[in-house]
Amino acid sequence: MIVKGFLCSKAYLSFKPLLTEEAFLVVNGKVAYVGSYERVKSLTKELSGELIDLRGYVVMPGFVDPHTHLDSLALSLTSLELRGVMSIKELRERIKSFLSKHKDLEVLYGRGWDQELLAEGRWPTRWDIDDLVPDKPAVLTRLCGHVALVNSVVIDELGLDRLSNPNVVRDANGRVLGIVKEDLVGLVWDYLTSKIKSWGKLLSNSLRYLASLGVTTVGFLDARLRYVKELMRLYSLNKWLPVRVKAYLSLKDFIRYKEVLGVALGNEYVGIVGIKLFMDGSLGARTAYLSTPYEDDPKNRGQLLMRWGDLLKYSLEATSLGLQVATHAIGDAAIDEVLKAYTELVRRGVDPKLLRIEHLSVVRPDQIELISKLGIKVSIQPRFVISDWWVVKRVGRGRASWVYPFKTLLKSGVPLGISTDTPVEPPNPWESIYAAVTRGAYEGIELSSLTPNESLSTDEALDLYTRGSAKLLNDPYIGTLEVGKYADFIVLTEDPLRLNPKELRSLKVLATYVGGRESWVSSDW
Ligand SMILES: [Zn+2]
Repeated sequence: MIVKGFLCSKAYLSFKPLLTEEAFLVVNGKVAYVGSYERVKSLTKELSGELIDLRGYVVMPGFVDPHTHLDSLALSLTSLELRGVMSIKELRERIKSFLSKHKDLEVLYGRGWDQELLAEGRWPTRWDIDDLVPDKPAVLTRLCGHVALVNSVVIDELGLDRLSNPNVVRDANGRVLGIVKEDLVGLVWDYLTSKIKSWGKLLSNSLRYLASLGVTTVGFLDARLRYVKELMRLYSLNKWLPVRVKAYLSLKDFIRYKEVLGVALGNEYVGIVGIKLFMDGSLGARTAYLSTPYEDDPKNRGQLLMRWGDLLKYSLEATSLGLQVATHAIGDAAIDEVLKAYTELVRRGVDPKLLRIEHLSVVRPDQIELISKLGIKVSIQPRFVISDWWVVKRVGRGRASWVYPFKTLLKSGVPLGISTDTPVEPPNPWESIYAAVTRGAYEGIELSSLTPNESLSTDEALDLYTRGSAKLLNDPYIGTLEVGKYADFIVLTEDPLRLNPKELRSLKVLATYVGGRESWVSSDW
């Protein structure tokens, strides 16, 4: 029996209802007792446990981020930053200096270049990078993610020069330039990730990074089974992980492996809990599916990526195995299609606890009412408010009140959790708390001035990012520090409920504990 007693200035056990204590006892990774210094001290002594004195510090439940892309985050942590590159010469210099610092790379992955900025006034080609990366695959994606520059290794191994696909760009002589678009970016990405043998190391680095930010559990969306297997191998080394991982398989892997998913896969640290589906695209690319056209593109309503009948079919298969369904839906017309399928599922007796909608960015009041009535859970990303600063121009003022209506969702009783969709948004939880509370007011964002009442209070945001997100993942043992829960918590120098939003944004985590065990500690502690 492992016993640890923790003494703090203040321990937030939960934010809604607001429960605080001064000390707590952890037995075998779970909170066994909360109460006074004296009682925790004496219990720790009687049980021959270890006493950890955090007086002077504030403790709160660890952050639960129910929508992340761990694999992309892992790659982005060792990727070459190409944003702001102003010439092909500079592109080459950045590659050279990156490779000299990262000698053991299996592949070169970079992102963020924009040909509009290049002094040479042309697109970069494979001949600009081949001599620098002659012996391993190089994939450098453009800022938008829909275009990539690849080297000759990639072209040869994938046989891109033999494809008649128009998304392989050629010069007037028919020579393949190394620029690929749209579907081929996906193909190139799959190839690149298959060339990496050190996924264990990459995933482990990304978990440690998340732990350093105060995250103790993540939902890993669109996960491939091979990454889940790798995480399970990491778990088996210490029977522990620095961050708990709940995987939602990609549709591709669900279809491929569904026969074996009926048996319980996983444990309290890593497991498969659901599948991820897509109904539409994004507002940024004007591919989110809207009921009437985009304000700044009057012929375009976006794209529906899956029919509701297919959503129903996959959802029935997944939920019959006890798995959740997390469906990406950003535009209100896509949300209509999801609600058609989800209403039918609930009518057929599927537990609404198994049904999630991701993003729910442009949502009408009638839809909110139905979501609330059905009891469907919603994963929101408050940081989108700041990234999508142009959103009112895109959907029009008339629809502004439908965009990211967090407070309305909360008041309507929709079960909500806060997430980041990292690496789409920064994984630092305080960034999302700041965005939820300020709604872009300090950045002068138009949506904020049109919908000021949709801001959340700090305690609401903290509650949704801990207890709320835990509910989204259907894990009754995380999200608060009440007796019986896992001792997943973070140590702070300051009380987050006493800080203004700007101070919140720069709040640092001193240490993170998962299952009562230190998963990260700051060097300046
Ligand atoms: Zn996502």
